[in-house]
Amino acid sequence: MSTADWKNYEPVLIPNIKDLHKIDVYIKNGGYEGLKSVLTDKQKWENPKSVIEEVKAANIRGRGGAGFNAGLKWSFMPPADGGPRYLACNGDESEPGTFKDRKIFEYNPHAFIEGALIAAYAMEITTIYVYIRGEYKAYIRMMEKALEDAYEKGFIGKNILGSNYSVDFYVTGGAGAYICGEETSMLESLEGKRGYPRVKPPFPAQKGLWGRPTTINNIETLAHVTSVINRGADWFKSVGAENHPGPILYGISGHVNRPGVYELPSGVPVLDLIHDMAGGIRNGKKLKAVIPGGSSTPVVRADQLDGISMDSDSLRTVGTMLGTAGLVVMDEDTDMVDMLWRITHFYHHESCGQCTPCREGTGWLEKIMLKIKNGDGEIKDLDLLLDITTQMEGRTICALADAAAWPVRHTITRFRDEFEARCKKSVHAVA
Ligand code: NAD
Ligand code: SF4
Repeated sequence: MSTADWKNYEPVLIPNIKDLHKIDVYIKNGGYEGLKSVLTDKQKWENPKSVIEEVKAANIRGRGGAGFNAGLKWSFMPPADGGPRYLACNGDESEPGTFKDRKIFEYNPHAFIEGALIAAYAMEITTIYVYIRGEYKAYIRMMEKALEDAYEKGFIGKNILGSNYSVDFYVTGGAGAYICGEETSMLESLEGKRGYPRVKPPFPAQKGLWGRPTTINNIETLAHVTSVINRGADWFKSVGAENHPGPILYGISGHVNRPGVYELPSGVPVLDLIHDMAGGIRNGKKLKAVIPGGSSTPVVRADQLDGISMDSDSLRTVGTMLGTAGLVVMDEDTDMVDMLWRITHFYHHESCGQCTPCREGTGWLEKIMLKIKNGDGEIKDLDLLLDITTQMEGRTICALADAAAWPVRHTITRFRDEFEARCKKSVHAVA
């Protein structure tokens, strides 16, 4: 289905089926057929590698935000040596503006569980962990129940469905810090340690949980694996935008009439998402700006959005990214200074403090933004902020420093008049 037909798309991950979270309803609707197929249909799936090839061909771009080809990531796992190998499923979604994985936990947990089992089989993995954001207490309980049911039906455990494949699957509640969603920090947390990100390389496939080969995938990414196995890589690639194909769970929040999570093909025009799906801007106001994919993706002004769609290529033309497809919509009354201060406050609070540019940089960004927000800023402070962002970017262990720097740089650049108006005119600025 091309992006142009997006209005006719029938949701696959969050379809309108009552009680789909219950295992019997899921099975009645074709659930666990994909797993059965990869484990038992040797004509179709000669070996685990053939599953990896199909997923690689589908070009599922990781839905956690970075967009890395999932099948390619799986192919980085070294050959099995008889020792433990892990799949760590990242359900620690905490990026401001991102709330789509919880929809899967709530409405269709078995699509995720099945995708994770298929992934584990493909990579000859022996243990699966799902790490769920600590605040998602209800979803943690739901996942525990869903896994219990899947064990009971024989989809998890020893010799699944009579095959010689066995795997265990555990739920872990997150430690309550944003940084624990960073993949290597999540590994530390799973090992029972403080969530400090690790230096990469080595990547987790080489040295992951307890030093063993590990793959980390986002929840939505794994749920799409189930659809790829059931419907084929060609189907997945035929949906949506060419370079970022497949359905996407768009999380739309902010000043719209109908905020929520919408499953649609990738590449839907941004303005259609806002006006057709989300019911337009609330109170009849005008659109001012959007953040397309979670707080780290650069803000875009409304006048830049004509013809721009939710795919990485199109968004790149206006200097931003798809990220997690968590679209934050801001109306004409939005105070961009206030908005940016909140973002700087968040990243400063969440920095783990290991790297000086991040620990100190996020602190200075927040401090200066607070000064500007309170009306005590000077125009030279804007250039100081931009300078700090260049001192932070690309110099740290993980991407949090970049994620903190980008919103500052792009919001100031794109709304400079508004920031200048808030600043006192300094001697330096006049000179
Ligand atoms: P990344 O681009 O460094 O890595 C993406 C994935 O590809 C990782 O799993 C990494 O291990 C793998 N990879 C990359 N290069 C590789 C190589 N050469 N060899 C082997 N594996 C390789 O991005 P990241 O730091 O994992 O994630 C950053 C993104 O996370 C940001 O874009 C942000 O949008 C997103 N994010 C999401 C949330 C959320 O709530 N979902 C929260 C914070 C950040
Ligand atoms: Fe911690 Fe920030 Fe360094 Fe990431 S960049 S490891 S969050 S200090």
